[in-house]
Amino acid sequence: MQPKFCLSSLLTIALAAIAGGSDLSSDFRSHPRVCRDSALNQDLPQAGAANRLPLLVRQAIALIPFIEDRQVVILPRASDVSVYLVSWGYSRETASETVAELAPLAEFTIDHHFPIFINAGSPHYRRILASWKHGKSPDQAARVLASDIYHEYRHAACGEEELDALAAHISLLKRWRAEGLLRIADPYIASKESERRSLEAKSANRSR
Ligand SMILES: [Zn+2]
Repeated sequence: MQPKFCLSSLLTIALAAIAGGSDLSSDFRSHPRVCRDSALNQDLPQAGAANRLPLLVRQAIALIPFIEDRQVVILPRASDVSVYLVSWGYSRETASETVAELAPLAEFTIDHHFPIFINAGSPHYRRILASWKHGKSPDQAARVLASDIYHEYRHAACGEEELDALAAHISLLKRWRAEGLLRIADPYIASKESERRSLEAKSANRSR
């Protein structure tokens, strides 16, 4: 059996300094929203001090009140996830195939469980990190990462499939934009919306 993970973070779009408009028609006010069962038993690895999260990641997590540091793991390289896969019962062969598939992703969960993995070597994460370190709006860069973490939370805590997790992700981005807290992410929001449209088209085709 192959592990299941999210493919939504394949798109990496530069964060540009474009002021945002607002779309009041969506349900963005309801996000971020906690899932009822998020406090239930989670199969979290005991990574201990080895998994000390970088400041950027801790700042991002702090923006979502119900997500905890211990639910997030930062991977220096995508291949570091294979230790987890093997400990969860996947064969070494499946683990290495999965690593190859996961390598381009910035964040992901495995089989809709915690922890949320962040691939520190991915272009998307490195771009956010550069924007946080050197850009004019480090707080907004952390917010973009927080929205990505929230997307993975929807998979892990709410058991949502891609379309729902993506909708929640977009709602949160738009809420922050409407509140004036996120002005640098218009191209990213547009890319997420286009991703949602193509997923919707695919699922409409399937149900025909
Ligand atoms: Zn996803």
